[in-house]
Amino acid sequence: MEDVIIIGAGAAGLTAAIYAGRKKLNAVLVTGPNIGGETNSTNDIQNYPGYEGPGPELMKKFWAQAKKWGVQVKEARVTKVTHAGHFTLELDSGEKMESRAVILCYGRERRKLNIPGEDQFFGRGLSTCTTCDAPLFPNKDTVVIGGGNSAVEGALELARIARKVYLVHRRDRFRADEVTVEKARAEPKIEIILNASPAEIKGDKFVKSLVVEDAVSKERRELPVQGIFSEIGWETHTGMVAGLVETNQAGEIVVDVLLRTKTPGLYACGDLTSVPYKQTVISAGHGAVAALEAYKFVTGAKH
Ligand SMILES: Cc1cc2nc3c(=O)[nH]c(=O)nc-3n(C[C@H](O)[C@H](O)[C@H](O)COP(=O)(O)OP(=O)(O)OC[C@H]3O[C@@H](n4cnc5c(N)ncnc54)[C@H](O)[C@@H]3O)c2cc1C
Repeated sequence: MEDVIIIGAGAAGLTAAIYAGRKKLNAVLVTGPNIGGETNSTNDIQNYPGYEGPGPELMKKFWAQAKKWGVQVKEARVTKVTHAGHFTLELDSGEKMESRAVILCYGRERRKLNIPGEDQFFGRGLSTCTTCDAPLFPNKDTVVIGGGNSAVEGALELARIARKVYLVHRRDRFRADEVTVEKARAEPKIEIILNASPAEIKGDKFVKSLVVEDAVSKERRELPVQGIFSEIGWETHTGMVAGLVETNQAGEIVVDVLLRTKTPGLYACGDLTSVPYKQTVISAGHGAVAALEAYKFVTGAKH
């Protein structure tokens, strides 16, 4: 029986591990292979107080500090969490673990396009991170899919590098801030295609085109591009904690200011929570609060 199991090794999980280690809790960090989490996706962190530079470098520091405080690490994906007096975790290895408290820090995943060619061309011209991969397409023809700020800002970022940027959105207006949309409309390299959905990615070894379908006429148009950027949002998977947490309309885990869920001893931090701002510094702060709360819960200390 562990004192606390932390699920996920992004900014939230690694910070929780540092705090749990310093409190001498018997803590295990169970994580998928992406140690450092989504912060690894950016090469230019400018808003983490005290640090400016590549995301992976920052996360290496988190990782080194968590290890220094003696957290045990198990590389596996958690598939199910149940609660009956204490928590039981099922791992994809088939193993089971038991704990008095659990801190959920497993982040969220990008939504899929669910079109032919998506799996085949992922990493071969199809990217889900404009910020990370735009520099790979100098003077190329590209397309960004989506209608929110990430998509429109991504198109503007690409326009500084690529020769041409199509911006494809399935509705007749963008969700992005109007000021950002205006900038995109004024950018000569960007061609906006509204009311159109991606239908198929074509290519050989690498992407050669994206087929889009008009929502009304159902006519299809093939955009000759080498780079496709899918910026259609994120999904929070809560199936593995079904019944133990409340979720909001966006499917995120509802927490109070102390990161508590509706189940005593179960905490949630960072990008998977109902807290609207998804940032490394916020996830790190959550990890600290949840670990301190878990310590009180486990030791029976009074508030
Ligand atoms: C391109 C990009 C650029 C960004 N730039 C910035 C920036 O400049 N500044 C900033 O503050 N924020 C930035 N962010 C946001 C920031 O990366 C996130 O807010 C932060 O990573 C969230 O941390 P987290 O710990 O909540 O989750 P994540 O970082 O998503 O970590 C989740 C962890 O859980 C693990 N995991 C997932 N599922 C399971 C499972 N079932 N079992 C076990 N482990 C699991 C993963 O392997 C990973 O280790 C950026 C994000 C992106 C995508």
